Amino acid sequence: MAVAFIALGSNLSDRVAMLAAALAELSLDARVCLRVVSHVYGSEPWGVADQPSFANAAVALEFAGGPEDLLQLCRAVERRLGRAEGPRNGPRSIDLDILLFDSLVIDTPQLTLPHPRMRDRDFVVTPLLEIEPTLMMPDGRKLESSEATSGRITGVLGVIPGLDSLTPDAPRL
Ligand code: AMP
Repeated sequence: MAVAFIALGSNLSDRVAMLAAALAELSLDARVCLRVVSHVYGSEPWGVADQPSFANAAVALEFAGGPEDLLQLCRAVERRLGRAEGPRNGPRSIDLDILLFDSLVIDTPQLTLPHPRMRDRDFVVTPLLEIEPTLMMPDGRKLESSEATSGRITGVLGVIPGLDSLTPDAPRL
């Protein structure tokens, strides 16, 4: 069983419901077992500035398959939740990024692991450190919130409904 960390983001329609639906869809897959789910954080619009702010969370899960299988599953969940093609870094109903998959290092046209921009983004690093405070990257470096200077988090929006038993007691703010 591999352990993977996934970042979730949404900035369209009911953002928290969208994150909850994505986790529900992921856990419907027999290969997936959700382990720890972060609080939901609000973050400033990122990439394209003129768009709604985001709701972000991170999840640690066990996965009985390979990294490409997990990528396929994430794309399928995004499609099922109505993600339409739009401008890169523009508004999206749901975005699922694989951050880490065990300590695999992969760089193919389809998949880069660890996710190449994860360390700079506060909206990725803060939820990730909430669920795994001593996270080590495959290169042996500790993940540090001080390096995450873009995509600032602006507050805590709450817990994902129905998943509070998997959520740590306190958010990281
Ligand atoms: P995005 O528009 O940000 O969701 O990017 C989607 C594309 O990024 C997908 O088609 C993937 O093939 C590619 N990709 C590369 N590395 C990753 C990763 N670690 N997690 C998710 N998507 C990835």
